[in-house]
Amino acid sequence: MQKKLINFLILQFIIILPKLSNSNNFNFDILGCFCEGGMIYGIVNNGEQVKINDLKIKLSSDNYFVYAFGRKHDEIIKIKIGEEEKIFKVKKKKYKIEKINNLPTRKVEPSQKDMKKILKESDELKKVKNLDINNKLFSDQFLIPVEGRVSGRFGSQRILNGKAKRPHYGLDIAAKKGTKIYAPTDGKIKKIFDNMFFTGNTVIIDHGLGLISIFAHLEKIFISENQLVSKGDLVGSVGMTGRATGPHLHWGIYLKNVPVDPETFIDLNVLE
Ligand SMILES: [Zn+2]
Repeated sequence: MQKKLINFLILQFIIILPKLSNSNNFNFDILGCFCEGGMIYGIVNNGEQVKINDLKIKLSSDNYFVYAFGRKHDEIIKIKIGEEEKIFKVKKKKYKIEKINNLPTRKVEPSQKDMKKILKESDELKKVKNLDINNKLFSDQFLIPVEGRVSGRFGSQRILNGKAKRPHYGLDIAAKKGTKIYAPTDGKIKKIFDNMFFTGNTVIIDHGLGLISIFAHLEKIFISENQLVSKGDLVGSVGMTGRATGPHLHWGIYLKNVPVDPETFIDLNVLE
């Protein structure tokens, strides 16, 4: 019950905050979540300049600016659009410690040979985070890509087999092997990787403006590279390839190289 209430409050926060910032009266709409893990974006008039904390933001070809806060961020942010300047509060988030103990040793303490594969793959994953489609393809509300149970949240500190690892940059949704996975919003299939060391069978969807989704641990992949997908299109099925203790979808979102919390785009109440 309490969990439901908390989720309700989170949802309220996501929905209300952008409205609050609008009513603060910029002549512009800023959408998204002013929160750690969140992302904000908006469209401006031709030739209008946008500055965030005094730094000029590069606009997209369709005049969007976009900014992601990352896992940790200062409590305030200054946004200037044209001649208007406003200060916004950025909501802090508390992150949990997640312990996972039954992973194969090889996946937590990789051998030298495995390390070679890991480094090559992390290079490739870095590359897919580069800006490619410089216009907005995503919609304001995302779809939950798979029906299941939330088994891991964005930002939590991970302790795997007793070893402290980097934070978890994604949302884990546990579901039966073979459960269908759908595109959360429009995009283009940027890259497909088979059998990555950590992420297994992996799909990268480019949503434009430098925003990508990464789907990991898939069993099957039903789409191909460069294919355009619409919100709700079938992408693949849940598996446990790569480093996983059970079948689940790991859904990561990045704005260029800044990790974004998928929960800020969806209504989790549907799952719980
Ligand atoms: Zn995960």
